[in-house]
Amino acid sequence: MPIDATLPYDDTNIFARILRREIPAKTVYEDDYALAFHDITPRAPVHILVIPRGPYASWDDFSANASEAEIAGFVRAVGKVARDNGLVAPGYRLLANTGGDGGQEVAHLHVHLFGGRRLGPMLVE
Ligand code: AMP
Repeated sequence: MPIDATLPYDDTNIFARILRREIPAKTVYEDDYALAFHDITPRAPVHILVIPRGPYASWDDFSANASEAEIAGFVRAVGKVARDNGLVAPGYRLLANTGGDGGQEVAHLHVHLFGGRRLGPMLVE
């Protein structure tokens, strides 16, 4: 079920539990602002999720309420993960599903990083 991106943050979501190390994840990078790990159901040869450490439900919440340092730290981390995984030269795609029409399932902001093959059209009609 897609989430309602207008609701306040709820720290029972699965990515909050990964941040608290209550459940495992295949971590590829972490710093003060971000954690990156492999998606449990990869849709491409490389499918990594990057999440901010702060409690932001969606891109909307994060872009409106995160500090300048959190925003800069998160964006830098996304770029670094792409570089460190060899995605820049072949190319890659970023995706942040937001709310119902976006199909967001987990109510903690996450950016999908896809790569490792030609990714095809931006949207399936
Ligand atoms: P979205 O539809 O944008 O909210 O994407 C949620 C993503 O989280 C999906 O691609 C899931 O496969 C992924 N996911 C759900 N649970 C886990 C988990 N425990 N570890 C890693 N990825 C997960």
